[in-house]
Amino acid sequence: MSSYDYDLVVIGGGSGGMAAAKEAMLCGAKKVALFDFVKPTVHGTKWGLGGTCVNVGCIPKKLMHYAASMGPALHGDAPHFGWNIEVKGHDWNAMIDAVQQYVKKLNFSYRVGLRSKKVEYINALGRVEDPHTVSYVKNGETQKLSTKYILIAVGGRPNVPSEEEVPGAQQYAITSDDLFSLKTSPGKTLVVGASYIALECAGFLTELGYPTTVAVRSILLRGFDRQCAEKVGQMMQEMGTRFVRALPTRITKTTSGKFQVEFSDGLPTEEFDTILYATGRLPDTQLLNLEAVGVKLDDKGKIIATCEQSSVPSLFVVGDALSGGLELTPVAIKAGELLVRRLFAGSTVQMDYHLVPTAVFTPFEYGACGMSEEAAIEKYGQANVEVYLFEFPTLEIAAAHRAKVLSARVNEADVELSPNSLTKLVCLKSENERVLGFHFVGMNAGEITQGYSLALKLGCKKSDFDSVVGIHPTDAESFHSLAITRSSGESWVAAGGCGGGKCG
Ligand code: FAD
Ligand code: NDP
Repeated sequence: MSSYDYDLVVIGGGSGGMAAAKEAMLCGAKKVALFDFVKPTVHGTKWGLGGTCVNVGCIPKKLMHYAASMGPALHGDAPHFGWNIEVKGHDWNAMIDAVQQYVKKLNFSYRVGLRSKKVEYINALGRVEDPHTVSYVKNGETQKLSTKYILIAVGGRPNVPSEEEVPGAQQYAITSDDLFSLKTSPGKTLVVGASYIALECAGFLTELGYPTTVAVRSILLRGFDRQCAEKVGQMMQEMGTRFVRALPTRITKTTSGKFQVEFSDGLPTEEFDTILYATGRLPDTQLLNLEAVGVKLDDKGKIIATCEQSSVPSLFVVGDALSGGLELTPVAIKAGELLVRRLFAGSTVQMDYHLVPTAVFTPFEYGACGMSEEAAIEKYGQANVEVYLFEFPTLEIAAAHRAKVLSARVNEADVELSPNSLTKLVCLKSENERVLGFHFVGMNAGEITQGYSLALKLGCKKSDFDSVVGIHPTDAESFHSLAITRSSGESWVAAGGCGGGKCG
């Protein structure tokens, strides 16, 4: 007989927490409770069960990415291929309704999922009292649960510069937590930040037709392959996103309800309808009382752990709140499931944080698995790294003569979009050109990269890619006929052709 009320108490009902709680019941845990509570944003936005991914992350973002991708297809490609349709514009509220309806359906199914696995769901803020006790407030009274194990899966929340750093930012800016349920169309938007969230949001806002400016502090997509990150930026610019290398220094509200932004670096003051900050996220650990019970945190407040176990042996962590982890939903889910299998089902399988594939859902997506060219050179030396490249237009985009926006054209003849796909393998010469890094910028890069990540996990070589017959005509077949190396000095940009393949 356990001396605790529960075998496991999970704090946080997002990707990692939900998966771990349900899996624990399947692995033989007798009693599991899961806390989930959403603190509203400064603008009052809140949401249901399921955490960031479902409510204010991956899901609404991917749906808006899809909705937005129809814009250039409807305006440009469809008429070219004979469709006679009148596009009157985009109805923001209709899109929000469709997205939110789907999110609500998921919220409901997550509740049902917990119930069917007999996980007790507590809609309150959990707090750690000691290594085996979690407290919460119900109807004004503090309740306590004793538990063998505690799993922290509280995720993170957007980090907006303080009032001292950028006056007006905290008060007037929205974040991704607000965007996906915004009641009025965003209009002319300033996005601050230059990584996943900033570029994804700026990308879909641009394609939906809202004039969008991205304020970049340093580089696009820090940590990713530089050439690919720049390609993402180039394609976004050609599709209408404006990039400025300056940051807001003050935001004020005008009498007409717009926002006046003063900038650094001499950029003139400008008015926007919406300011979206996407300047990183901080773990939601402040109210958990963790340091008082002996849990070690890093300088951002993330929990330091070995194999997901914190400095307090009964307290574990998965997902965005784990120091040194990866802020991705499938990572949180897999780490949560593997952890509870170890705790309750005698498994010894650990989470492998290497070769995790990822995709940035910009208008032309960017998928990556493994090392960037820069990271490979830093680790193995320039002479030991070979890079294979091919840049080409997707067949359908080229045939539709998809056009650049006017502001991205250098002269009258410069009308068509640049080659929109970039295929890249980073290989280690001394190990028979083992593939260290897989990179693809182009349509459906997320889908493509997911498949190839298996090959990287299996330790594939460049010659393995060469031995595979492509599927024609696709963008992905380009990976099976890569012949131009960076060291050759030859151009890797296709003059025309049929997408990723070789025909004729
Ligand atoms: P979360 O999913 O954040 O869940 C934590 C939950 O705990 C929340 O509901 C929170 O309110 C609750 N909570 C916090 N404190 C307490 C408490 N004390 N008591 C009770 N409940 C509490 N990842 C991808 O893989 N692909 C994508 O395309 C993608 N897109 C994204 C887009 C955006 C805009 C954002 C913001 C993120 C995106 N991510 C994406 C990242 C992904 O959403 C996160 O990595 C993932 O949700 C982390 O899961 P988690 O379990 O750590 O926490
Ligand atoms: P990141 O931490 O990845 O990037 C933050 C960005 O904001 C960087 O460009 C950074 O610039 C910039 N920045 C930071 N502080 C400031 C400031 N004070 N002023 C101006 N710019 C600033 O955060 P994100 O919010 O984009 O994403 C968080 C995580 O969520 C990602 O790392 C990812 O793991 C996950 N995610 C995954 C997605 C996917 O899988 N498709 C989609 C969205 C999110 P600098 O480089 O100069 O530091």
